[in-house]
Amino acid sequence: MNHADASLDGKAIAKLLEQQYDFLAGYVGIAPDWIFVHVGNKYPCGMSVASGPNPEMFLQAASIFDTSANYAHEMMHCFMFQFGAMPHWFNESIADAAYADSEIELWHRRGEKELLAQFDRVDNRSYEPHAAPDQIGKDYYRRVCARMLARRSECLRTFTHDTPLEERNELLLTILSEAAGEELRPLFTDEFGFNAKRRRGREGTSRILGERMNRGTQ
Ligand SMILES: [Zn+2]
Repeated sequence: MNHADASLDGKAIAKLLEQQYDFLAGYVGIAPDWIFVHVGNKYPCGMSVASGPNPEMFLQAASIFDTSANYAHEMMHCFMFQFGAMPHWFNESIADAAYADSEIELWHRRGEKELLAQFDRVDNRSYEPHAAPDQIGKDYYRRVCARMLARRSECLRTFTHDTPLEERNELLLTILSEAAGEELRPLFTDEFGFNAKRRRGREGTSRILGERMNRGTQ
C-alpha cells in the first residue's frame, strides 16, 4: 500500500486477493509464485505489468475492498504473462472472461445470463471470442487456458514483440479453435472481418461489425 493510506487493513485485502488467486490458479492451470499488488490513491485505473517472474498489479485504494473492481481482470493479466506477450485484443478478452466467470462462480454476485448478454453486443471489446456459436458458456475459457498450457512453450516462443502480429494471431486462432472443437477461422475472418495481419488492439473488428450493423447489412 505504498501509494495509499497506510491504515488500510492489509491482511483483509490479502485474504480477498488470495481467494481470487486460488480461483485463477485453478482456472488457468498454472500460477506465478507471487503477484505483487500495489494499492494507490491516485492510479487512474487498475493496471498490471509483467516484471520478471513476479508480475505486479495496481489497484485503486478507494475500491480496494470491492472484489468486483478489477481484482479478476488485472490478476488474469498477471496470470497470462506466463504465456508471453499476447496481442492486446486477446489479453483483454480473456481478462474480461475471467472477470465474468469470477463474478458467477467465485463471488456469486451475478448470473451467467446477465453477463453473457453484456458480451453479446458488437460494441463490446470482447465480442468475437464470446460470440462464436456453441462455445459461449462458463467452461470455454477454461478450455482455452488448457490448450494454451498444452502449447505453452510454443506460446512463449511466439508471443514476443519480435514475432509478426499475424503469426501471433494465427496461434490464437488455433488455440481458440481447438478449445471450441471446431475451426473458427471462417467465422472470424468472414463474419467478423478479423484480419490476423492487423488486429492488435480493441479497435477493429467490433468497429467493422458496428458499421455493418448501421448499414443494415449484418
Ligand atoms: Zn486489461
